[in-house]
Amino acid sequence: MNEETIKPGNFIRNIIEADLKAGKNDGRVHTRFPPEPNGYLHIGHAKSICLNFGLARDYNGLCNLRFDDTNPHKEDEEFVDAIKEDVQWLGFDWGDRQFFASDYFERLYYYAVQLIKQGDAYVCDLSAEEIREYRGTLTEPGKNSPYRDRSVEENLDLFARMRAGEFPDGSKLLRAKIDMASPNINLRDPAIYRIRHGVIHHQTGSEWCIYPMYDYTHCLSDAIEGITHSICTLEFEDHRPLYDWFLETLKTENHPQQIEFSRLNLQYAITSKRKLTQLVEQGVVEGWDDPRMSTISGMRRRGYPPAAIREFCDRIGVTKADNSVEMEILESCIRDDLNENAPRAMAVLNPLKIVITNYPEGQSEDLTAPVHPQNENMGTRSIPFSREIYIDKDDFRESANKKYKRLVKDKEVRLRNAYVIRCDEVIKDNNDEIIELRCTYDPATLGAAPEGRKVKGVIHWVSAEHAVKAEVRLYDRLFNHPHPDSDKEVEDYMVHLNPRSLRTLTHCYVEAGLAKTVPGAVYQFEREGYFCADSELCREGKLVFNRTVTLRDTWAKMEQKG
Ligand code: ATP
Ligand code: MG
Repeated sequence: MNEETIKPGNFIRNIIEADLKAGKNDGRVHTRFPPEPNGYLHIGHAKSICLNFGLARDYNGLCNLRFDDTNPHKEDEEFVDAIKEDVQWLGFDWGDRQFFASDYFERLYYYAVQLIKQGDAYVCDLSAEEIREYRGTLTEPGKNSPYRDRSVEENLDLFARMRAGEFPDGSKLLRAKIDMASPNINLRDPAIYRIRHGVIHHQTGSEWCIYPMYDYTHCLSDAIEGITHSICTLEFEDHRPLYDWFLETLKTENHPQQIEFSRLNLQYAITSKRKLTQLVEQGVVEGWDDPRMSTISGMRRRGYPPAAIREFCDRIGVTKADNSVEMEILESCIRDDLNENAPRAMAVLNPLKIVITNYPEGQSEDLTAPVHPQNENMGTRSIPFSREIYIDKDDFRESANKKYKRLVKDKEVRLRNAYVIRCDEVIKDNNDEIIELRCTYDPATLGAAPEGRKVKGVIHWVSAEHAVKAEVRLYDRLFNHPHPDSDKEVEDYMVHLNPRSLRTLTHCYVEAGLAKTVPGAVYQFEREGYFCADSELCREGKLVFNRTVTLRDTWAKMEQKG
């Protein structure tokens, strides 16, 4: 085990370590991440990716990327590409081990022929409805299909003709011959192959008109790839006997061990591809990578650092217990990362103009501020100062009590990284709206204030002449209910959509240096939060920033120190 990357233990690590000790699998650890390319990956998948690739990394093993592509009518090459991009962005590498379950279609077909020859599979002509009737219930056993005792020869002939396209969709199935009375319904002669005409598979085109079922395909793909530990979510626990039945019955060379863990549910978010698809298709969000989506691409566009998502997956751990993780845990990982790594900048979101009457017209100067107050290595930045500046409307009041440590008429405040100013005059329009302030600055207050001078408040600002116009999108949770899709009180989880999940501010100003920002860069806008230059919308001189996450409420303390 690699000492540098020791992670807190969990029951899967315990199993692997015991296997290694016992010399099982010749000391190999080989996992896989097996997405179905029918949508974009979400935060739940991130947990599975970190787990599977993380185990391979920590135990000097390998992790394959395998597309589980047995359901061609819902799948698409677009999803294949997006999934690859997301896994790489999260920081993982499958080397030359990118596979498709469809790579094995021919082998899977011959495994099915073998099952038929052994008397372990048969072609069944019952309709879907009849199959449901014959299956029985949790409390009653099922009934044998009248086609269950077909001869091997007849089954081989019918299965070959299914493949050759002689029968219409739904008219026949290949089924495993297990036990219609099994207390585990998954073992009541489950389907192995179904007929699907007229679909163009993204990998195999129109080569096949029969497709293997997931349960059959998955265990065999694992065995073919030499997977040692096949890690999946708890809903597959009841399928494990079937997983093992196929491998034992076919006597495959490898018999991977299936291990289940509980899926990640994140509060105020949705981790179901089907529902995420609805949000996209119904235009509730702007796309799969809308920064409000719990997709990996959405989080990327929102400015979440991949290391912070990995840290989150480590922090929440791996268990078999049902869980629902608080959004605060994710957000706190994002903040911890950005607090340490994001360069600082000043941005005024609701601008109010100030004219500094004692600063000479036409003059400007470059002030210097640290890129990061706690990290000198990140260097300094230059901030132009001039006679006209913008501050945020919220940072001014005509009158206020002592608790309000910002700018008040006839009082002083420090401009962050610059001078102390005093507000002398408030200018209003006909509707009594404040449109401008007249202030004076004290040239002796750059850096530290002179001895004995007490100026409590610090506010941010930008030079009107030099600042760059920007649009700022303030994102909030997409849902205003912690469990939007498990609320039994409502029929449709969409009623829990948060109407204020996006507020767009079109007239913001950011400090001059941000004109050269690269799409995807994340800054701390001092006193405002963390913001990411949008990777799609920052084009041709236009600047759009997405709010990644709000600041922790530490500014109040900083203001007191200021
Ligand atoms: P969804 O229900 O969103 O469609 P899925 O399980 O059908 O998810 P797959 O593409 O089959 O999606 O998932 C690939 C892998 O990711 C599987 O091993 C699955 O168990 C795992 N996975 C999916 N959702 C979660 C989750 N919420 N938490 C942890 N792992 C997950
Ligand atoms: Mg699935």
